[in-house]
Amino acid sequence: MTPVFHPSLVNSPFADPCVYVDFLFDRRAMLFDLGTLTALPTRKVLRISHIFISHTHIDHFIGLDHLVRLCLGRQKQIHLFGPAGFVDQVWHRLASYTWNLVYNYDTDFTIVATEILPDGSGLSSEFHCLHGFRPENTVARHFTGGIIHHEEGLCAKTTLLDHKIPSLAYSLEEKLHVNILKNHLEELGLEVGPWLNKLKTAIQEGKPDNTPIRACRAKGEPAATGPVFTLGELRERIVKIEPGQKVCYVTDAAFTQKNAERIVDLARGADYLFIEATFLDDDSDRAATRHHLTASQAGKLARRAEVARVIPFHFSPRYTGRGNEITAELQQAWNGFSP
Ligand SMILES: [Zn+2]
Repeated sequence: MTPVFHPSLVNSPFADPCVYVDFLFDRRAMLFDLGTLTALPTRKVLRISHIFISHTHIDHFIGLDHLVRLCLGRQKQIHLFGPAGFVDQVWHRLASYTWNLVYNYDTDFTIVATEILPDGSGLSSEFHCLHGFRPENTVARHFTGGIIHHEEGLCAKTTLLDHKIPSLAYSLEEKLHVNILKNHLEELGLEVGPWLNKLKTAIQEGKPDNTPIRACRAKGEPAATGPVFTLGELRERIVKIEPGQKVCYVTDAAFTQKNAERIVDLARGADYLFIEATFLDDDSDRAATRHHLTASQAGKLARRAEVARVIPFHFSPRYTGRGNEITAELQQAWNGFSP
């Protein structure tokens, strides 16, 4: 399988949190958190379509100004997600500038801000450049199963963590890769066509094996006359299925039992886990009073979640020059060697 998500930290693990998830074969990207963005080239910033923000401490949210500055004057829409109160905070940030010159722009850069409340309800507002970025089209939202965004091929999920204030962890998950085996298709005398998209969607949605799927034998064949197969038959004969990728982002969370369970649930089986490792375990008391994880705690959570790769970040500046100690402590715990 060719991995689609290419995630990486934008800044040093000692600097502002921000993970850039580049999409292969698609001029597009998503972000986890919105710390300082100046390390990203403009062309990469302009690819961003969705930004998932844990909470609005300044080091996680300061990049909004840079983002707006680069996107202004372009026909572009960006979706931002954050915790309770987030829509108002986006509005206040935008309202701190004077927008008298934007009303006759040719383009309408738009931010759609969504906040997610602890009970799974939420709120979305649009902020259009052409209307001076005032909130409009505000709608109530409701999210089930933690899913806050889905589109063809992928979805984003969140879980609420306790950082003395709400802090959201996120995962970005690809749906199953459904590859059509062309030579097997030909053996059955079938032709490629839109019907294969219906088959892929039915498999990704977990439809039962006896679901009927109408195939196509020749280009231009009327849709109603093609032979009908069951989903189970087609999956057996013309399809190869591979699991999709999963990238998980966890930051600013106290090491409580409830947080740990939620983190492990969200991150289970992830290909990449980006997780804060703010303190060394020697300073676990300090970590507890600041509601952060130690490197050892982060490694243990990664181990419990059985992730394939773990990338620590959000190191406290007190360890400047000692980043390798933090990484080593996390690796040890991840490998099961810590007390
Ligand atoms: Zn933080």
